[in-house]
Amino acid sequence: MSNTQDPQIDWKSLHFGYSDTDANVRCYYKDGKWGDIQVETSTTIEIHMAASCLHYGQEIFEGLKAFRGRDGKIRVFRLEENARRIADSAKGLLMAPVPEELFIEMVKKVVKLNERFVPPYESGASLYIRPLEIGISPRVGVAPASEYLFVIMAMPVGPYFKEGIKPTKVCITREFDRVAPKGTGRWKVGGNYAASLGAGEMAHSKGYSAMLYLDPKEKKYLDECGPANFFAIKDGKYITPASDSILPSITNKSLMQLARDMGMEVEARHIPVEELATVQEAAAVGTAAVASPISEIDDLDNGTKYVILKDGKIGPVVMSLYNKLRAIQYGDEEDVHGWVTVIE
Ligand SMILES: *Cc1c(COP(=O)(O)O)cnc(C)c1O
Repeated sequence: MSNTQDPQIDWKSLHFGYSDTDANVRCYYKDGKWGDIQVETSTTIEIHMAASCLHYGQEIFEGLKAFRGRDGKIRVFRLEENARRIADSAKGLLMAPVPEELFIEMVKKVVKLNERFVPPYESGASLYIRPLEIGISPRVGVAPASEYLFVIMAMPVGPYFKEGIKPTKVCITREFDRVAPKGTGRWKVGGNYAASLGAGEMAHSKGYSAMLYLDPKEKKYLDECGPANFFAIKDGKYITPASDSILPSITNKSLMQLARDMGMEVEARHIPVEELATVQEAAAVGTAAVASPISEIDDLDNGTKYVILKDGKIGPVVMSLYNKLRAIQYGDEEDVHGWVTVIE
Protein backbone atom coordinates (compact mmCIF):
# COMPACT_ATOMS: atom_id res chain seq x y z
CA MET A 1 0.00 0.00 0.00
CA SER A 2 1.34 3.42 -0.81
CA ASN A 3 1.70 6.05 1.89
CA THR A 4 -0.84 8.85 1.52
CA GLN A 5 0.51 11.30 4.09
CA ASP A 6 1.39 14.79 2.90
CA PRO A 7 5.19 14.72 2.44
CA GLN A 8 5.50 18.32 3.72
CA ILE A 9 7.39 19.61 0.72
CA ASP A 10 7.56 23.28 -0.19
CA TRP A 11 6.59 22.62 -3.82
CA LYS A 12 7.42 26.19 -4.83
CA SER A 13 11.06 25.91 -3.82
CA LEU A 14 11.79 22.63 -5.59
CA HIS A 15 14.65 22.64 -8.08
CA PHE A 16 15.86 19.99 -10.53
CA GLY A 17 17.71 17.56 -8.34
CA TYR A 18 17.65 14.25 -6.54
CA SER A 19 15.51 13.71 -3.46
CA ASP A 20 14.39 10.58 -1.64
CA THR A 21 10.85 9.34 -2.14
CA ASP A 22 8.97 6.29 -0.84
CA ALA A 23 10.04 3.53 -3.20
CA ASN A 24 11.86 2.50 -6.35
CA VAL A 25 11.18 -0.50 -8.57
CA ARG A 26 13.75 -2.98 -9.86
CA CYS A 27 13.99 -5.93 -12.16
CA TYR A 28 16.91 -8.27 -12.81
CA TYR A 29 17.81 -10.01 -16.06
CA LYS A 30 19.42 -13.39 -15.46
CA ASP A 31 19.67 -16.70 -17.34
CA GLY A 32 18.30 -15.05 -20.45
CA LYS A 33 15.13 -13.61 -18.94
CA TRP A 34 13.69 -10.76 -16.89
CA GLY A 35 12.50 -11.65 -13.39
CA ASP A 36 9.68 -10.28 -11.23
CA ILE A 37 9.27 -6.60 -10.45
CA GLN A 38 10.67 -5.79 -7.01
CA VAL A 39 9.58 -2.85 -4.90
CA GLU A 40 12.43 -1.39 -2.83
CA THR A 41 12.62 1.30 -0.20
CA SER A 42 16.41 1.20 -0.03
CA THR A 43 18.15 3.80 -2.20
CA THR A 44 21.35 1.82 -2.64
CA ILE A 45 22.24 -1.07 -4.92
CA GLU A 46 24.79 -3.75 -4.20
CA ILE A 47 26.78 -4.85 -7.22
CA HIS A 48 29.99 -6.74 -7.90
CA MET A 49 33.09 -4.56 -8.00
CA ALA A 50 33.90 -5.99 -11.44
CA ALA A 51 30.41 -5.21 -12.84
CA SER A 52 30.57 -4.36 -16.55
CA CYS A 53 28.85 -1.01 -15.99
CA LEU A 54 31.69 0.14 -13.75
CA HIS A 55 34.54 -0.92 -16.02
CA TYR A 56 33.21 -0.78 -19.53
CA GLY A 57 30.35 1.66 -19.25
CA GLN A 58 27.37 -0.59 -19.95
CA GLU A 59 24.90 1.98 -18.67
CA ILE A 60 21.83 3.56 -20.29
CA PHE A 61 19.02 5.66 -18.89
CA GLU A 62 15.81 7.54 -19.62
CA GLY A 63 14.02 10.61 -18.31
CA LEU A 64 10.29 11.33 -18.35
CA LYS A 65 7.74 13.15 -16.24
CA ALA A 66 4.37 12.75 -14.56
CA PHE A 67 2.12 15.78 -14.08
CA ARG A 68 -0.84 16.39 -11.79
CA GLY A 69 -3.68 18.10 -13.59
CA ARG A 70 -6.22 20.64 -12.42
CA ASP A 71 -8.56 17.64 -12.21
CA GLY A 72 -6.19 15.94 -9.74
CA LYS A 73 -5.35 13.16 -12.22
CA ILE A 74 -1.74 12.13 -12.83
CA ARG A 75 -0.58 12.00 -16.45
CA VAL A 76 2.66 10.51 -17.74
CA PHE A 77 3.89 11.92 -21.04
CA ARG A 78 4.66 9.54 -23.95
CA LEU A 79 6.03 6.65 -21.88
CA GLU A 80 5.73 4.24 -24.82
CA GLU A 81 8.30 6.38 -26.65
CA ASN A 82 10.71 6.15 -23.73
CA ALA A 83 10.12 2.39 -23.60
CA ARG A 84 11.08 2.09 -27.27
CA ARG A 85 14.09 4.36 -26.92
CA ILE A 86 15.66 2.56 -23.96
CA ALA A 87 15.30 -0.77 -25.79
CA ASP A 88 17.07 0.85 -28.73
CA SER A 89 19.86 2.14 -26.47
CA ALA A 90 20.19 -1.36 -25.00
CA LYS A 91 20.68 -2.88 -28.43
CA GLY A 92 23.29 -0.24 -29.19
CA LEU A 93 25.40 -1.29 -26.19
CA LEU A 94 24.69 -5.04 -26.50
CA MET A 95 22.61 -4.98 -23.31
CA ALA A 96 19.43 -6.96 -22.69
CA PRO A 97 16.52 -4.78 -23.89
CA VAL A 98 13.76 -4.22 -21.33
CA PRO A 99 10.48 -5.37 -22.92
CA GLU A 100 8.23 -2.36 -23.58
CA GLU A 101 5.33 -3.79 -21.52
CA LEU A 102 7.65 -4.32 -18.54
CA PHE A 103 8.97 -0.76 -18.82
CA ILE A 104 5.43 0.64 -18.94
CA GLU A 105 4.25 -1.48 -16.01
CA MET A 106 7.24 -0.40 -13.90
CA VAL A 107 6.76 3.30 -14.70
CA LYS A 108 3.11 3.09 -13.69
CA LYS A 109 4.06 1.25 -10.51
CA VAL A 110 6.76 3.70 -9.41
CA VAL A 111 4.41 6.66 -9.97
CA LYS A 112 1.62 4.99 -8.03
CA LEU A 113 3.95 4.11 -5.16
CA ASN A 114 5.17 7.71 -4.98
CA GLU A 115 1.83 9.35 -5.69
CA ARG A 116 2.13 11.69 -2.71
CA PHE A 117 5.27 13.17 -4.28
CA VAL A 118 3.53 14.22 -7.48
CA PRO A 119 3.39 18.01 -7.05
CA PRO A 120 0.06 19.87 -7.07
CA TYR A 121 -1.10 21.41 -10.34
CA GLU A 122 -0.63 25.01 -9.20
CA SER A 123 3.07 24.54 -8.42
CA GLY A 124 4.11 24.03 -12.05
CA ALA A 125 6.35 21.25 -10.70
CA SER A 126 6.26 17.59 -11.75
CA LEU A 127 7.45 14.11 -10.82
CA TYR A 128 10.66 13.24 -12.66
CA ILE A 129 10.99 9.56 -13.51
CA ARG A 130 14.49 8.19 -14.08
CA PRO A 131 14.85 4.65 -15.45
CA LEU A 132 18.37 3.21 -15.41
CA GLU A 133 19.84 -0.02 -16.78
CA ILE A 134 23.30 -1.38 -15.97
CA GLY A 135 25.33 -4.44 -16.79
CA ILE A 136 26.15 -6.21 -13.52
CA SER A 137 28.06 -9.39 -14.43
CA PRO A 138 31.70 -9.37 -13.33
CA ARG A 139 33.83 -8.65 -16.40
CA VAL A 140 37.53 -7.91 -16.59
CA GLY A 141 37.97 -8.88 -20.21
CA VAL A 142 36.01 -6.59 -22.53
CA ALA A 143 32.65 -8.27 -23.17
CA PRO A 144 28.98 -7.51 -22.62
CA ALA A 145 27.43 -8.65 -19.33
CA SER A 146 25.02 -11.56 -19.19
CA GLU A 147 23.14 -10.10 -16.21
CA TYR A 148 21.45 -6.71 -15.98
CA LEU A 149 19.67 -4.56 -13.43
CA PHE A 150 16.87 -2.22 -14.45
CA VAL A 151 15.81 0.34 -11.80
CA ILE A 152 13.27 3.15 -11.91
CA MET A 153 13.38 5.95 -9.36
CA ALA A 154 11.10 9.00 -9.18
CA MET A 155 11.35 12.37 -7.46
CA PRO A 156 9.54 15.71 -7.48
CA VAL A 157 11.30 18.47 -9.45
CA GLY A 158 10.53 22.16 -9.78
CA PRO A 159 9.60 23.90 -13.00
CA TYR A 160 12.70 24.52 -15.09
CA PHE A 161 11.90 28.22 -15.35
CA LYS A 162 11.13 29.32 -11.82
CA GLU A 163 10.95 33.02 -12.55
CA GLY A 164 9.19 32.47 -15.87
CA ILE A 165 10.67 31.25 -19.13
CA LYS A 166 13.90 33.16 -19.81
CA PRO A 167 16.19 33.18 -22.89
CA THR A 168 19.87 32.29 -22.48
CA LYS A 169 23.02 32.43 -24.60
CA VAL A 170 24.86 29.38 -25.91
CA CYS A 171 28.27 29.04 -27.55
CA ILE A 172 30.01 27.07 -30.28
CA THR A 173 33.57 25.77 -30.46
CA ARG A 174 35.30 23.20 -32.63
CA GLU A 175 37.55 22.23 -29.73
CA PHE A 176 35.16 19.66 -28.29
CA ASP A 177 32.93 16.86 -29.57
CA ARG A 178 30.20 15.27 -27.49
CA VAL A 179 30.20 12.02 -29.45
CA ALA A 180 31.71 10.39 -32.54
CA PRO A 181 30.07 10.49 -36.02
CA LYS A 182 28.89 6.87 -35.94
CA GLY A 183 29.24 6.52 -32.17
CA THR A 184 26.82 6.35 -29.26
CA GLY A 185 25.26 9.82 -29.63
CA ARG A 186 21.98 8.39 -30.88
CA TRP A 187 21.53 6.40 -27.66
CA LYS A 188 20.92 7.65 -24.13
CA VAL A 189 24.21 6.54 -22.64
CA GLY A 190 25.77 7.92 -19.45
CA GLY A 191 29.18 7.91 -21.12
CA ASN A 192 28.03 10.57 -23.58
CA TYR A 193 27.42 12.81 -20.59
CA ALA A 194 30.81 12.09 -19.05
CA ALA A 195 32.35 13.00 -22.41
CA SER A 196 30.47 16.32 -22.47
CA LEU A 197 31.24 17.54 -18.93
CA GLY A 198 34.42 19.35 -20.00
CA ALA A 199 32.71 21.26 -22.81
CA GLY A 200 29.75 22.08 -20.56
CA GLU A 201 32.04 23.36 -17.84
CA MET A 202 33.87 25.57 -20.33
CA ALA A 203 30.59 27.00 -21.65
CA HIS A 204 29.33 27.71 -18.13
CA SER A 205 32.61 29.34 -17.08
CA LYS A 206 32.20 31.81 -19.96
CA GLY A 207 28.62 32.64 -18.98
CA TYR A 208 26.76 30.43 -21.47
CA SER A 209 24.00 28.00 -20.53
CA ALA A 210 25.31 25.29 -22.89
CA MET A 211 27.61 24.30 -25.72
CA LEU A 212 25.94 24.04 -29.11
CA TYR A 213 27.87 21.16 -30.66
CA LEU A 214 28.71 20.90 -34.34
CA ASP A 215 28.54 17.61 -36.20
CA PRO A 216 31.66 15.70 -35.16
CA LYS A 217 32.64 14.68 -38.70
CA GLU A 218 32.73 17.88 -40.72
CA LYS A 219 32.15 20.48 -37.99
CA LYS A 220 29.90 22.36 -40.38
CA TYR A 221 26.41 21.55 -39.20
CA LEU A 222 24.53 22.04 -35.95
CA ASP A 223 24.19 18.94 -33.78
CA GLU A 224 22.95 18.91 -30.15
CA CYS A 225 22.67 21.78 -27.71
CA GLY A 226 24.30 20.52 -24.51
CA PRO A 227 22.13 17.63 -23.28
CA ALA A 228 19.23 18.77 -25.46
CA ASN A 229 18.12 18.88 -29.10
CA PHE A 230 18.09 22.16 -31.00
CA PHE A 231 15.48 23.76 -33.23
CA ALA A 232 15.04 27.11 -34.87
CA ILE A 233 12.20 28.99 -36.52
CA LYS A 234 13.06 30.31 -39.94
CA ASP A 235 10.50 32.18 -42.03
CA GLY A 236 7.67 30.30 -40.36
CA LYS A 237 9.37 26.88 -40.70
CA TYR A 238 10.48 24.63 -37.84
CA ILE A 239 14.02 23.48 -38.62
CA THR A 240 15.98 20.96 -36.55
CA PRO A 241 19.29 19.18 -37.20
CA ALA A 242 19.22 15.62 -38.56
CA SER A 243 22.32 13.55 -37.81
CA ASP A 244 23.44 10.10 -36.68
CA SER A 245 25.02 11.57 -33.58
CA ILE A 246 21.87 13.12 -32.13
CA LEU A 247 19.67 11.50 -29.49
CA PRO A 248 16.12 11.54 -30.90
CA SER A 249 14.35 13.75 -28.37
CA ILE A 250 10.73 12.86 -27.66
CA THR A 251 10.02 16.49 -26.80
CA ASN A 252 11.44 17.60 -30.15
CA LYS A 253 9.35 15.00 -31.95
CA SER A 254 6.27 16.27 -30.09
CA LEU A 255 6.98 19.92 -30.89
CA MET A 256 7.46 19.01 -34.56
CA GLN A 257 3.98 17.49 -34.53
CA LEU A 258 2.51 20.53 -32.79
CA ALA A 259 4.23 22.80 -35.33
CA ARG A 260 2.64 20.78 -38.16
CA ASP A 261 -0.70 21.00 -36.37
CA MET A 262 -0.25 24.79 -36.38
CA GLY A 263 0.23 24.67 -40.14
CA MET A 264 4.01 25.06 -40.12
CA GLU A 265 6.44 23.20 -42.33
CA VAL A 266 8.95 21.05 -40.48
CA GLU A 267 12.43 20.31 -41.81
CA ALA A 268 14.80 17.81 -40.14
CA ARG A 269 18.01 18.25 -42.11
CA HIS A 270 21.62 19.43 -41.99
CA ILE A 271 21.74 23.02 -40.75
CA PRO A 272 25.02 24.81 -41.60
CA VAL A 273 26.29 27.04 -38.75
CA GLU A 274 26.08 30.14 -40.96
CA GLU A 275 22.35 29.59 -41.42
CA LEU A 276 21.95 30.82 -37.83
CA ALA A 277 22.21 34.34 -39.27
CA THR A 278 18.85 33.79 -40.98
CA VAL A 279 16.68 32.40 -38.15
CA GLN A 280 14.18 34.40 -36.10
CA GLU A 281 13.92 32.10 -33.05
CA ALA A 282 15.91 29.22 -31.57
CA ALA A 283 15.59 26.91 -28.58
CA ALA A 284 17.06 23.90 -26.81
CA VAL A 285 14.49 21.14 -26.39
CA GLY A 286 14.12 18.25 -23.94
CA THR A 287 12.03 16.86 -21.08
CA ALA A 288 13.61 19.10 -18.44
CA ALA A 289 12.65 22.47 -19.92
CA VAL A 290 10.38 21.59 -22.89
CA ALA A 291 11.82 24.50 -24.89
CA SER A 292 14.49 26.79 -23.57
CA PRO A 293 14.69 29.88 -25.79
CA ILE A 294 18.11 31.02 -27.03
CA SER A 295 18.81 34.74 -27.31
CA GLU A 296 22.30 34.60 -28.81
CA ILE A 297 24.77 32.06 -30.19
CA ASP A 298 28.46 32.98 -30.05
CA ASP A 299 31.03 31.18 -32.18
CA LEU A 300 34.06 31.31 -29.90
CA ASP A 301 36.47 30.20 -32.63
CA ASN A 302 35.91 33.13 -35.01
CA GLY A 303 34.10 35.72 -32.90
CA THR A 304 30.83 35.60 -34.87
CA LYS A 305 27.83 36.49 -32.73
CA TYR A 306 24.44 35.33 -33.96
CA VAL A 307 21.95 37.54 -32.17
CA ILE A 308 18.64 35.69 -32.37
CA LEU A 309 16.39 37.76 -30.16
CA LYS A 310 17.28 41.38 -30.91
CA ASP A 311 15.16 42.81 -28.10
CA GLY A 312 15.70 39.84 -25.74
CA LYS A 313 11.99 38.99 -25.85
CA ILE A 314 10.95 35.37 -26.36
CA GLY A 315 9.74 34.70 -29.89
CA PRO A 316 6.03 34.01 -30.46
CA VAL A 317 6.46 30.55 -32.03
CA VAL A 318 8.70 29.10 -29.29
CA MET A 319 6.36 30.57 -26.70
CA SER A 320 3.22 29.08 -28.23
CA LEU A 321 4.81 25.66 -28.79
CA TYR A 322 5.97 25.67 -25.17
CA ASN A 323 2.54 26.64 -23.86
CA LYS A 324 0.77 24.11 -26.06
CA LEU A 325 2.93 21.18 -24.96
CA ARG A 326 2.70 22.09 -21.27
CA ALA A 327 -1.08 22.37 -21.59
CA ILE A 328 -1.27 18.84 -23.02
CA GLN A 329 1.03 17.48 -20.30
CA TYR A 330 -1.08 18.98 -17.50
CA GLY A 331 -4.35 17.94 -19.12
CA ASP A 332 -5.49 21.53 -19.77
CA GLU A 333 -5.71 20.86 -23.46
CA GLU A 334 -7.18 17.89 -25.30
CA ASP A 335 -4.70 15.09 -25.95
CA VAL A 336 -5.57 14.57 -29.61
CA HIS A 337 -2.43 12.53 -30.37
CA GLY A 338 -2.82 10.09 -27.45
CA TRP A 339 0.40 11.21 -25.77
CA VAL A 340 -0.61 11.00 -22.13
CA THR A 341 -1.27 7.99 -19.92
CA VAL A 342 -3.48 8.65 -16.93
CA ILE A 343 -2.30 6.71 -13.87
CA GLU A 344 -5.33 5.05 -12.29
C1 LIG B 1 17.52 13.00 -23.06
C2 LIG B 1 18.24 13.79 -24.09
C3 LIG B 1 17.58 14.72 -24.91
C4 LIG B 1 16.13 15.08 -24.75
O1 LIG B 1 15.26 14.04 -25.02
P1 LIG B 1 13.76 14.09 -24.50
O2 LIG B 1 13.20 12.79 -24.89
O3 LIG B 1 13.10 15.23 -25.17
O4 LIG B 1 13.83 14.30 -23.03
C5 LIG B 1 18.32 15.35 -25.89
N1 LIG B 1 19.63 15.12 -26.05
C6 LIG B 1 20.30 14.24 -25.26
C7 LIG B 1 21.75 14.04 -25.48
C8 LIG B 1 19.62 13.55 -24.27
O5 LIG B 1 20.30 12.69 -23.49
